[in-house]
Amino acid sequence: MKAERPRTDYAPTAAAALNFRESLSALRTSVRFLKGVGPARAAQLEAFGLRTIEDLLYHLPFRYEDRRSVVKVRDARVGDEATFIGKLIALGKHFNPRRRQRMLTAMLDDDTGRLGLVWYRAPSYLVDGLAQGQTLVIHGKVEAGPGGHKQMAHPDFEVVDPGDPPDHEKILPVYERPEGIPLKTMRKWLAEAVEAYGAHVPAFLPPAVMKKTGLLDARAALARLHRPEKGDDVEALNRCASAAHRAVVFDEFFYLQLGLALRRQNRTDRSGIAFAREKKSLTQKMWEMLPFRLTRAQEKVLQEIALDMAAPRPMQRLLQGDVGSGKTIVGWFAALRAIENGFQAVWMAPTELLAEQHYRNLKDFAAKLAVPIALLTGSMPAKTRKEIIDEVKHGRVSFVIGTHSVIQENVRVPRLGLGIIDEQHRFGVMQRMALQKLAACRGSAADSLPEPDILLMSATPIPRSLAMVLYGDLEISWLNELPPGRTPVETRLIRSSARARAYDLVCDEVRKGRQAYVVYPLVEASEKLEVRDATSMAAELSQGAFKDCRVGLIHGRMSAAERDETMRRFKEGEVQVLVATTVIEVGIDVSNASVMLIEHAERFGLSQLHQLRGRVGRGEHRSYCVMIYYGGNSTEALERLRVMERERDGFKIAEADLRLRGPGEMIGTRQSGLADFRIANLARDSGLLLEAREEALAWLENDPRLALPESRAMKAVLKHRWAGRLELGNIG
Ligand code: ADP
Ligand code: MG
Repeated sequence: MKAERPRTDYAPTAAAALNFRESLSALRTSVRFLKGVGPARAAQLEAFGLRTIEDLLYHLPFRYEDRRSVVKVRDARVGDEATFIGKLIALGKHFNPRRRQRMLTAMLDDDTGRLGLVWYRAPSYLVDGLAQGQTLVIHGKVEAGPGGHKQMAHPDFEVVDPGDPPDHEKILPVYERPEGIPLKTMRKWLAEAVEAYGAHVPAFLPPAVMKKTGLLDARAALARLHRPEKGDDVEALNRCASAAHRAVVFDEFFYLQLGLALRRQNRTDRSGIAFAREKKSLTQKMWEMLPFRLTRAQEKVLQEIALDMAAPRPMQRLLQGDVGSGKTIVGWFAALRAIENGFQAVWMAPTELLAEQHYRNLKDFAAKLAVPIALLTGSMPAKTRKEIIDEVKHGRVSFVIGTHSVIQENVRVPRLGLGIIDEQHRFGVMQRMALQKLAACRGSAADSLPEPDILLMSATPIPRSLAMVLYGDLEISWLNELPPGRTPVETRLIRSSARARAYDLVCDEVRKGRQAYVVYPLVEASEKLEVRDATSMAAELSQGAFKDCRVGLIHGRMSAAERDETMRRFKEGEVQVLVATTVIEVGIDVSNASVMLIEHAERFGLSQLHQLRGRVGRGEHRSYCVMIYYGGNSTEALERLRVMERERDGFKIAEADLRLRGPGEMIGTRQSGLADFRIANLARDSGLLLEAREEALAWLENDPRLALPESRAMKAVLKHRWAGRLELGNIG
C-alpha cells in the first residue's frame, strides 16, 4: 500500500509536545462542552458510552460511503448502490393509525429523471426537516418501485444548504450513534471535535520508530479517519486497513505493551531465588526414570524454565500448551528443581478431582525419589487436614498438591520456592490474586526469603496475540508439540435429527469395552431455555438408549465428594457412560474413554469444545467426538463448528475462536479489560501488535524507567490511558 502523506496542519509541534499535560486534560473535557451539544444531547452521548471529547475522537466511523461519483437518475440501475443529487419536488406525509407510524414519501428530480424516496417509518426530525425545493444528496440502493418507477427506501441523505457546495465529491464517514441522533448531526459533532480538539491528540511515539515503520503520526491519522480525503482508498478504509488505521492501531498497541513491559520490569527488579542451574540428584534421577522420551518442545520449555529459575529474580512464567501436550511432567520437573535446592513447592489445581489426579500420577515418582508429598483437599477429614498442614508448616512435606482455595486458606509453606498454578484459565485479576496469595503462603517467613518463583499452566491454548496482551508482563513458554503416537480424534458435526446414530456409536463402543462421555450445557432443565440438561437426560438415557450400559452423572452442583465418587467409578470402569456438564472440561484423564458426545455444541466456544474433545483419544483406542448441533441453517454458527472437524491444533482453533467471537466472548467480557481496545482488533492486527511490542521493549531497554526527557510525554500518555487497568500506580 502506498504511504499517505501526513497533513501538515496536524504535524506535532514543539509547543504541543510541551503542553502534553494540558492536552491530555483537554481530552477529558465532557462532550457537553462541544459546540452544538446541549445537556440533553450530551446525556444521550454519555449513555451511548461517549463521555469525553477523547471518547468521541476515538469513535471511528464503522463504514465509509463513497460519494465521489454522483450518478444521473436516468442512468440508475435497480440493485445498484448509488449517489444522486437533485431537488425535492414533492413531499407526502401519511399517518398509519393502526401501526401508529408516520410514512414519508418524496420525489427527487435531477433534470434527467425522477427518483421516488420512501421512509416507511419516519422519525419526526426527518418529517420536520425536509421541505420542497431543498437540494438533497441521496445515497442508497435503487429499487423497483410501484408502476415501474425507480425508488429508494430509507436512503442516507444530506440537505445541501443554499450557497454551500454539495458534499457529493467526498468520502463520508458513517458512525454508530445513539438512537434519534441523525447521522448528519453526528458527523457535524465529530468534525467539530476534530477541529477544536484534534490538535490535543497525543502523538509521541519515538521518532526513530516512526521513521522505521513509516507510520503516519497518530494525530494526523485520527483526523484523517474522520475526514478522509478525496484520493483515499475507500476499500482500505472499510477494511480498517488504511495507513491511518494502522497508525492508530500501532499507537494503541505500543502504549499497552510499554505498560506491560514496565510492569514486568518492576518485578524483575526485585530479588528472587537463584536455584542452581545444573541438574542435581532429584531431577537427574527423574530424568532416568522417565517412562517416555520427552518431546523436543518439552525439552526446550524445561530449559527455559531452568534458566529462568536460575536467575536471581522472581520467575513468573506461563506455560502455554495444547491439551495433552504434557504440561504435568514439565511442572513436576520444575518442582523437583525447587525441592533439590532445599525449597518447598506448591501445586494449585482448579478442582479436587484434578488435584487428586495429579497426586495419584505423581506419588509413585515421589516415592521412588523419596520426596515427601501430600494432597490437601477441602473434603478430607478435618483431622487429617490439620496434620498435613502441620507437616507442611514444619517443612516435613516438600511438595503439596491442593485446590486453589484450600491452599490459599490457611496453609503456611515457610520455604516456598515455587508455586505452580495449573489449568490457569481465569485471566487477569484472578491470576494476580492467586499470586499474592501464594506469596502470603510463606507466612511470617515471607520477609526472610526472596520471592518465590511461579509457573502458570494454561488450561486451553490461546492465540499468541491474546497472550501477548493478557500476559504481556509474564514470560511465556510455548509447548507446541504433542507426544508421538496420538491418533487424531474423529470429529463429526451432526444435526439433532441424526442423534440416534450417535447413540449407536456410544453403545457399540461400550460393547467393545470402551467408555463414553455425554456432555450437556445445563445441569438441570431450565424454564427459559429449550435446552437439554444433564440431570433429566441421565435419567432418560439410562432407561432408554443406554439401558444396557451403566450410566453415571456428574455436574458442578454435586458435592465434591459425590463428584469424586462418580469419577472414581468411571475411572475404574464401573460407570460406562458418564453424563456430564463441563465440569469434566478441564484435565480429566481416563484413557479407556473413546467417545465424547456433546449436545448443543452451538452453545460452547471452540476452545471449550477443543478441551472437551481432549478428554478422549488419550489411549491406544480409536476415538470419536460427535457434536450435536441444534438450530436452523445459520451458516455462521455452522461455519464456526466446522472448524472443529477440520482442525486439531488447539492454537489454530483458538485463533479461529478469537476471529469469530472476539476476545470478550472468548475469555469472558469481565476478564478482557486489557484486550478492550478502542480501534485495534487482536485477530486482525496481530502483525502490528508484534511490531509495537518489539518497539516498546526496545524503547524501555534504552530508558528502563522512562526517565529521559524524551520519554516524559510518553509516560504521561501511558498513565492517561492504562494506569488504571494496568495498576501502574508507581510509574511516577
Ligand atoms: P496436559 O498438557 O493436557 O496437562 P498431561 O500432562 O496430562 O497433558 O499429559 C497427557 C498424557 O501424555 C499423560 O498421560 C502423560 O503421561 C503423557 N505424556 C506426557 N509427555 C509425554 C511424552 N513426552 N511422551 C509420551 N507421553 C507423554
Ligand atoms: Mg494438565
